[in-house]
Amino acid sequence: MQTHYWNLQTDTDGAALREAAALIKKGEAVAFPTETVYGLGADGLNGAAVRKIFEAKGRPSDNPLILHIAAKKDILKLTSGLTKQAEILIDKFWPGPLTVIVAKSSIVPDEVSAGLDTVAVRMPSHPVAAEMIRLAGTPIAAPSANISGKPSPTDAETVLADMQGRIAGIVDGGVCEVGVESTIVDTTGEVPVILRPGGITREQLEAVLGNVELDPALAGVEAAKPKAPGMKYRHYAPKASMYVVEGEALKKLPLLAKEAAKFAPVAVICGGEVAESMQRTQNLHILNWGSGKTDLAVKLYRMLRRCDKLGVELIFSEGVTEDGIGLAVMNRMRKAAGRQVLTSDEIEALLKNSSQLKSFVLK
Ligand code: AMP
Ligand code: MG
Repeated sequence: MQTHYWNLQTDTDGAALREAAALIKKGEAVAFPTETVYGLGADGLNGAAVRKIFEAKGRPSDNPLILHIAAKKDILKLTSGLTKQAEILIDKFWPGPLTVIVAKSSIVPDEVSAGLDTVAVRMPSHPVAAEMIRLAGTPIAAPSANISGKPSPTDAETVLADMQGRIAGIVDGGVCEVGVESTIVDTTGEVPVILRPGGITREQLEAVLGNVELDPALAGVEAAKPKAPGMKYRHYAPKASMYVVEGEALKKLPLLAKEAAKFAPVAVICGGEVAESMQRTQNLHILNWGSGKTDLAVKLYRMLRRCDKLGVELIFSEGVTEDGIGLAVMNRMRKAAGRQVLTSDEIEALLKNSSQLKSFVLK
């Protein structure tokens, strides 16, 4: 399939979005930017169109999609009824990086909801996303525009790398502002539950709702079955083995990285302060996200993909505290690392025994 590429910087008369939206209306799948990550969109009320998304991504069919709308009132035809919590959230945080799970109406195809009796709905704030939905004149089902299992794309070049030849088109609207996916809140129960942390923080939600719970599966509780089916899949994974390093252990990271790089190419994902304390040596790639959690959120997925390109054997990633956007970022980082963490004592032991370090790096 020929994949059309529209660059909005060179599109002066708005033809690009009209063409892209026309393809969606015709039942094709087209990628476009949102404030969180790039989405792969199709007509959310057309089951056959929605199936093209699953095919292009290689996405398991039991993983439901989010419907994107351009006006708050458009949720009313997708749901059999909103709870008070849902109304408050919509009023307060839309348009923006917040998805609400609501009871679905009969017009939502099974392909979208994966057979559940609920549906996920979001009104994005990105002007390109909003205009695409408005022009298409239908809710757009749109998961992240990556091959399933890879980090979500936050720029159009990354979408192209994954999706060229697999979808009808890509709208290039620059780099996404938030960099991690939307927060998903289940509003159908007594107490609102965060199923996936994201662009709207837990603190922001609590400020308007009072008590908000976290789905136990987010804490890595093995027995807990995630209520957002997609959260069970191994997402965001780079090819190399990855470890989170945080707190006290961070002080030992520069030496560990330097020693490990003697055996194989190693990458360190870290903020400016840690980056400055690292010695530049051969085989050591320092990916510096800058100064705060917001910068890390914007860059994390691109850095994970960069590690794949560099062909490193091992990745050490600096962890941040889990307040604000830190909760979403650490959820993605820990998943990428398969929940592997290195403690200060473990680093100490590796530094004391060179053959142990070698087998740790090359395993
Ligand atoms: P993505 O579109 O890739 O951002 O993934 C959408 C996420 O929303 C996945 O984790 C889905 O499992 C989750 N999701 C979509 N619909 C529902 C629903 N009705 N109930 C719970 N989670 C949902
Ligand atoms: Mg995704």
